[in-house]
Amino acid sequence: MRTVIGLEVHAQLLTKTKLFCSCSAEYFGASPNARTCPVCLGMPGALPVLNELAVEYALKAALALHCEIPPRSIFARKNYFYPDLPKGYQISQYEEPLAVKGHLDLPTGKRIRIRRLHLEEDTGKLLHRPEGYSLVDLNRAGVPLMEIVSEPDLDSPEEARLYVEELRRILRYLGVCSGDMEEGSLRCDANVSVSVDDQLGTKTEIKNMNSFRAIEEALKFEVARQKAVLQKGEQIEQATLTWNEITEKTELMRSKEEAEDYRYFPEPDLVPLQIEDAWREKMTESLPELPAAKQARWAHDYGLPAYDISVLTDERRIAEYFEEVVKIYNKPKDASNWMMSELLRLRKEAPTSAIKIAPKDFAHILQMVESGQINRNTGKEVIAEAFQTGKTPEAIVQEKGLSQIADEETLLSAIDRVLAENSKAVADYKSGKEAVVGFLQGQVMRATGGKADPKKARELLMRKLTAL
Ligand code: ADP
Ligand code: MG
Ligand code: ZN
Repeated sequence: MRTVIGLEVHAQLLTKTKLFCSCSAEYFGASPNARTCPVCLGMPGALPVLNELAVEYALKAALALHCEIPPRSIFARKNYFYPDLPKGYQISQYEEPLAVKGHLDLPTGKRIRIRRLHLEEDTGKLLHRPEGYSLVDLNRAGVPLMEIVSEPDLDSPEEARLYVEELRRILRYLGVCSGDMEEGSLRCDANVSVSVDDQLGTKTEIKNMNSFRAIEEALKFEVARQKAVLQKGEQIEQATLTWNEITEKTELMRSKEEAEDYRYFPEPDLVPLQIEDAWREKMTESLPELPAAKQARWAHDYGLPAYDISVLTDERRIAEYFEEVVKIYNKPKDASNWMMSELLRLRKEAPTSAIKIAPKDFAHILQMVESGQINRNTGKEVIAEAFQTGKTPEAIVQEKGLSQIADEETLLSAIDRVLAENSKAVADYKSGKEAVVGFLQGQVMRATGGKADPKKARELLMRKLTAL
């Protein structure tokens, strides 16, 4: 039995204003219904005006996904009644969408075909109260969404997850969608069927998955359920399901009989959208280097291991940071280790704070460690301080007196003191216990406040000990 999956992803576009009016699209945290106007409240007679930036963002995504962009597309009304949809219809695209026939290559190399990409408006939100009534907040009504529909080319829940991860990475590189699944900025509906022959089986559609894990788990559950039904010789009922996070089961939302008939028809209040060649070319030129291209180039230019590349190119800002660092500190593997172990760790500990350390300062710290001006631990300390304050490494080293001590005279006097204070260890060494060298070295580091150049200190310590 073969698993077949096709995904419909809704991505909220990062425009300042809504798709058809000038209300702020930042509905998160705003007081209910504060970001509304006659257009997005669906008042009779109010007319939509298309947001040009939303079209540009959708075009960028379409081009990044190698779609064909027909010279003309049209908007359509998708009719249904629901309290979060004040007009009684959603403005979407149905026939003649913005873009068609694209593809996305998974990191595994497999190519997934994209059927279509279109623009539509979001609905409002309902807040169901335990007292038995519901509240309506229309701040989200009219926020621009882009829907990206794949062909049924995915053949496992793991692959579906990879697809959404890669799609999200691309949209974030483009800066057109935040990709925050928990906040609902990226939402995914999964269509899944199991086929027993070379025909496509009957599919079910799963809604309401708001994390990568949920997508994978919901699909695993649903595939197993469908296989069990088919194995009993029964048939799959076409249906819309919802994923219950708590029970970790899919539940019936509506069956085929209850499926809605949206009576799509062309939106009479908006003229057809024409995408001229010049506009498309301008958008093509504005595309940044995308993750897959960057990864291939890094493998060639930097010779980094695949793991390092995948970690450091996950986010465009981090990837570009790395590129800046190695322009100055031209040891990619070293720079990669430092970035993964220090910069990314610090950011993980304080995810909301800005990275204040400039790439050139980060590179400079690595140079200071390499030249022995400061030791590795001091390097980490300076990175942490610069991360928070944005001060230059020179300023931090000077302020805190962190320069490494490589001066022989200073080191020798510290070593003499340590040897005098640890006569037992010295005696142990003379009787052949070489392990005490490590202990004595530690004492020298302590005596210098951790600033001794470790290599130099060890060399001098050994010279002293063997001369005893
Ligand atoms: P609907 O009309 O129910 O929305 P579509 O044919 O428009 O269905 O397809 C919606 C999504 O479902 C697409 O992503 C498509 O790839 C996927 N899909 C279509 N048929 C199947 C199938 N038999 N099994 C799995 N996915 C499918
Ligand atoms: Mg559908
Ligand atoms: Zn409005």
